[in-house]
Amino acid sequence: MCDGKLTRGSMVASLTALSATPALAQAIPAGSGWNDDLVTGNRILADQEILDGFGHLSMRSQTNPTRFWMSRSMAPALVTAADIMEFDLDGNAVDPRGRAVFLERFIHSEIYKSRPDVNAVVHAHTAAMIPFGVSATPLRPLIHVAGFLGETVPIFEIRDVAGDATDLLVRNAQLGAALARSLGAHPVALMRGHGYVAVASSVRQCVYRAIYTVVNAQAEAEALRLGTVKFLTPGEAKSTAATMAPLVDRPWDLWKTQALGER
Ligand code: MN
Repeated sequence: MCDGKLTRGSMVASLTALSATPALAQAIPAGSGWNDDLVTGNRILADQEILDGFGHLSMRSQTNPTRFWMSRSMAPALVTAADIMEFDLDGNAVDPRGRAVFLERFIHSEIYKSRPDVNAVVHAHTAAMIPFGVSATPLRPLIHVAGFLGETVPIFEIRDVAGDATDLLVRNAQLGAALARSLGAHPVALMRGHGYVAVASSVRQCVYRAIYTVVNAQAEAEALRLGTVKFLTPGEAKSTAATMAPLVDRPWDLWKTQALGER
């Protein structure tokens, strides 16, 4: 029972909780090849309900393009700077120190290997995406903020690579490479019965794409219930993508404040 009285113990507990709150309190070693956006992006994607207990965000090293950074295996909402680990493009942790790593890190390693233009990758299981990976209805852009989706969104069918013997997880380099082939030059690929990946040249752009892909999927599912849907034309998709790409810092600042309570 709480009687509202402040004891020394409760004050210490409150202060401890307060000092542990800022996600970015720990300094990132200079020249380490990653920045605050990686931790912030994890918090944003959790706060926006794109990632739940599962899923992950990574960024390519800014100092060594054959390395990337992501958190140890944990819920994205809880990631701090101390949890960030370095990986090579075969999915090996460079300095594991006994920390658990994500089974599906090969999603990231194989995409970085095949896409020199990609510097950030999100993998998520967001429920709104699932119908478009398992049905005959294609995911296509119908709002201006999702023009980056282009004309088609590919679907990775793991059965084409490994039959029915998998648990649908991309748990080795062979499956990661097959996913990267399905993704091709696209910004987003659906993963049948599992989720999706979004990629971009920066963490902020990647978070934007991960979020607005889900917003588009939700809007498309709603629109299809009403009848015939007008999608963006290829020209509109291209123009809207070009207009929105330089503007990602605006929603990023909002999402960051909502997720962290700080700027
Ligand atoms: Mn997964």
